[in-house]
Amino acid sequence: MAKEITNRSEDYSQWYIDIVKKANLADNSAVRGCMVIKPYGFGIWENMRDQLDRMFKDTGHVNAYFPLFIPKSFLSREAEHVEGFAKECAVVTHHRLMNAPDGSGVVVDPEAKLEEELIVRPTSETIIWHTYKDWINSYRDLPLLINQWANVVRWEMRTRLFLRTAEFLWQEGHTAHATRQEAEEETLKILDVYATFAEEYMAMPVIKGIKTANERFAGAEETYCIEALMQDGKALQAGTSHFLGQNFAKAFDVKFLNENNQEEYVWATSWGVSTRLMGGLIMTHSDDQGLVLPPKLAPTQVVIVPIPKPAPEIDEVAEKIMRELKDLGISVSYDTDMRKRPGFKFAEHEMRGIPVRLGIGKRDLEKGVVEVARRDTKEKASQPLEGIAAHVQQLLTDIQQNLFDRAAAFRAEKTVKVDSFDDFKAVLDQDIPGFISAHWDGTTETELKIKELTKATIRCIPLDAEEEEGKCILTGKPSSQRVLFAKAY
Ligand code: AMP
Repeated sequence: MAKEITNRSEDYSQWYIDIVKKANLADNSAVRGCMVIKPYGFGIWENMRDQLDRMFKDTGHVNAYFPLFIPKSFLSREAEHVEGFAKECAVVTHHRLMNAPDGSGVVVDPEAKLEEELIVRPTSETIIWHTYKDWINSYRDLPLLINQWANVVRWEMRTRLFLRTAEFLWQEGHTAHATRQEAEEETLKILDVYATFAEEYMAMPVIKGIKTANERFAGAEETYCIEALMQDGKALQAGTSHFLGQNFAKAFDVKFLNENNQEEYVWATSWGVSTRLMGGLIMTHSDDQGLVLPPKLAPTQVVIVPIPKPAPEIDEVAEKIMRELKDLGISVSYDTDMRKRPGFKFAEHEMRGIPVRLGIGKRDLEKGVVEVARRDTKEKASQPLEGIAAHVQQLLTDIQQNLFDRAAAFRAEKTVKVDSFDDFKAVLDQDIPGFISAHWDGTTETELKIKELTKATIRCIPLDAEEEEGKCILTGKPSSQRVLFAKAY
């Protein structure tokens, strides 16, 4: 099969787009900035969603659903929140269309102007805290641990499939607590859930950290994040967990009676991950042959290809292997398409990132073996039919681990400590820059100046950052710890 995608080293952005399209993950749509997620891409997202959902439920959360539309007045209640989101809001102003009087088509009916304009939710804090006012009266109503799976709209000007779209799918957790401490613990608990999911399921190593004031969520007291490093040396913010203090409780007047019968404002958190994770998954593992998927999230973990085409004795063995694999909880398909040659199928399955391929030919069967190919390293080996299911099961575990180890080694290689602004710029000028650990004087002014000069931003203050006396790389002012810089998506 002709080589279908651009090499990473030639044009990384085009490589990414090629994979998204050729692996049938998503397409652009008729609406600017919005995407069509295709069945194969959606299958991967469903696996992510289902696993995250289990993890949220295991930590005591339940799902609910709140409306897509938010009255404009709600959004304005919390000053920083509206300030942060106003520039990217889609606003509904009318509720009816009519035929244009001049016959030129359909136009908005001027008579059908909404009394109060509605915002298409960019995030749901406001409508949820408006609702929580009715749900929370006493300490017995707390904590409230609610998540919703939904779509949101943020009118992004520069969009990229999955990584930054105007409409995206996500989950947003919104919790209410009786004490500051409990809410802070919740914020960190979810950060751990996100990190565990990223590392154990996506095989994507992440740094847990705190955002600077400048990068904080609008309306939060503290924003925590997980940051990952992509193969082109740019960082991706993969998830956020916000400690909201009492800001939304005050804006929506949500109080409760504590055990001493005194009124107090409720403490809040919110947290989310989105279809951006799909972009992170693609860019962490894939190669010049196409998508590479960690087995735990692959919709099809094993594909069996008859060589050169289906035949009764091959079908019989394939079906037996499929039964055994399914009994082990492994998803498998048998590619019986008569119209495609094996080489073509191999390339297609590689493009789709299926972790393991089994090739079964008559000559192999006479020898009692099948060919096993792994997608991550592209190694092939002849393997006895006897015990093949157990072998594949172990191989899937090995691939999952290898993908994580490979990504972790890459990140380690691409994380450097730097102590001068010249060295800082030199690292950023490399083809694949990576994370830079450097001292910063703690001001937004310096942070913005560095961004203006280099395009690098502070990704986070790592939670495990050690105290270390140093000097800011730009201003030379004193600093007590290093922060993590990178160019980012
Ligand atoms: P936020 O509510 O801003 O903290 O964002 C919650 C999650 O959504 C984060 O994990 C972001 O990485 C992700 N996210 C934010 N904006 C977009 C976007 N335009 N497209 C896809 N994901 C996004």
